[in-house]
Amino acid sequence: MLNIGCHLSVSKGFEFMGKQAIELGGNTFQFFTRNPRGGKAKEIDTKDTQALIKLMNENNFAKILAHAPYTLNPCSKDEHTREFAFQTMSDDLKRMEYLPNNLYNFHPGSHVGQGIEKGIQLISELLNTVLWEDMTTTVLLETMAGKGSEVGSKFQELKEIIDNVQLKEKMGICLDTCHVFDGGYDIKDNLEAVLEEFDKVIGIDRLKAIHINDSKNPIESHKDRHEKIGEGYIGIEAFERIVTHPILKDLPFYLETPNELDGYAKEIALLKSF
Ligand code: FE
Ligand code: FE
Ligand code: ZN
Repeated sequence: MLNIGCHLSVSKGFEFMGKQAIELGGNTFQFFTRNPRGGKAKEIDTKDTQALIKLMNENNFAKILAHAPYTLNPCSKDEHTREFAFQTMSDDLKRMEYLPNNLYNFHPGSHVGQGIEKGIQLISELLNTVLWEDMTTTVLLETMAGKGSEVGSKFQELKEIIDNVQLKEKMGICLDTCHVFDGGYDIKDNLEAVLEEFDKVIGIDRLKAIHINDSKNPIESHKDRHEKIGEGYIGIEAFERIVTHPILKDLPFYLETPNELDGYAKEIALLKSF
C-alpha cells in the first residue's frame, strides 16, 4: 500500500490533522512546526499528541513529517539570522519528542554570496549543535531547486553536509520531485539514472521521504514553482513510475501541490490507483 498524505494546517491540532489525513484517503501528513515566518510555536498539548499517536497506531500510519519554517536560513551571512535558525530548530526538535520516531525536514538554506563551501560548513555546524544522541527524530535535508544561492540542489552538496555531521545516523534526505527536476535531475525520462546517482553520491539508505509535486517549469529551471500532479512538466507517467518504483514505493510521499483539500483527496486517490 502506498504511504501518502499531503501538507496540512496545524492550526486545529495534531489529532485533527490525523483525522483529516484519513478522510483524504491518506495515512500520513506534513505540517509546518510553526508559522512559516517563524513565530512562536503553540504550547504542546500532550493530550492531543497522545491522541494522534493512538490514531496513527490504529490506522497503520507511516511516519509524519514536520517541516521547519522555510524562512529559516542556517547558512545566512548574518549571525542573528543563524542564531534564530538555531533557536527555532532546537526548539522544534525538542517538541518533536512528544511525537517520537517521526521526521523533521528543513531547507539547507541560501549562502547569499558566501559560496557553497561556506554554506555547507555553516549548515553542518548548526546540525552539530542541535542534534543529540538520544533524540528519536530523523532530520531530513530537502533537495532544493537551486533558486538564487540555495544550497542543496546537487546531491554532492547534501552529501558534504552530512559528511560533516557527527551524529550521521540522525540524518536523512527528503527528495522533492519538483525541486530535483528544477535542479536538473531528469526524473521524468531517466528516473533510474537519477536514483543510481543518488545512491552513488549520498547512499540510497539516506532517502527517507518524498515530496511529490509536479513542476510549472521545464527541467533545470531553478524556479521552484509546484504544479498539480500530472499538470506540469514532469507528467503523470513519470509519477506512476515514481510511486511504483521498487526503491521508492515503500517511502512516505507528501503532496505539496497547489490544492485545496478536495484536490489533495483526488491526487491521493490517483496515486494510490497505480
Ligand atoms: Fe520544503
Ligand atoms: Fe518540498
Ligand atoms: Zn518547493
